[in-house]
Amino acid sequence: MTADKPVTSQELSDICLSCGMCCEGTLYSHIPLKPEEIAKAEGRGWKIDEIGNGETGFLSPCHALSGACCTIYGDRPSVCGAYSCRVLRRVKNGRIAVEEGQSIIAKATSLRDQLRQYVPAGTTLFDFRRKAADWVDNWQQLSKAERKELAPAMLLITELTNLLDKEVLWITDNARSPEPSMMSDKDGDRVA
Ligand code: SF4
Ligand code: SF4
Repeated sequence: MTADKPVTSQELSDICLSCGMCCEGTLYSHIPLKPEEIAKAEGRGWKIDEIGNGETGFLSPCHALSGACCTIYGDRPSVCGAYSCRVLRRVKNGRIAVEEGQSIIAKATSLRDQLRQYVPAGTTLFDFRRKAADWVDNWQQLSKAERKELAPAMLLITELTNLLDKEVLWITDNARSPEPSMMSDKDGDRVA
């Protein structure tokens, strides 16, 4: 359903303030940095890591996140200012109504929160979702007891990943970080 009135910046901000998934390790494992931003990021205590494809960034979850709020909003890295997930971009461009965007994010964050009970300490949901792909590949090799233990988490991971792939992520193969092409799309269509 397309929007029947222009969205306000407060409505967009409220969606993000109910979410935080792009900063806390659910959507991505890393936040990319420009070379000139690296020294400042190290000074902030962020763990700098090679992402691949010549990119460098810091590991999620971001320590500047409090709840779903960025505590360094006015001084955040450039990618943070440029990035919108797909659902936010579609709301921004009137492709879907605010209520639909809110509903998608509410569903995704509910699944994320239910999943947290299964995630080992120190593991991000991004890594946990990737680990689940290994479980699927080796499902027949697992014992009956292991399958029974993993089944509830697998159901939630499957539902969450399907929703993220369909509505929230720009590409469906779990990119480790937002890429420049995700920043330049203006309409909310997939970039890959
Ligand atoms: S995932 Fe989307 S809605 Fe959630 S905080 Fe990031 S940009 Fe906002
Ligand atoms: S600096 Fe702010 S916007 Fe960027 S990842 Fe951290 S909490 Fe999110």
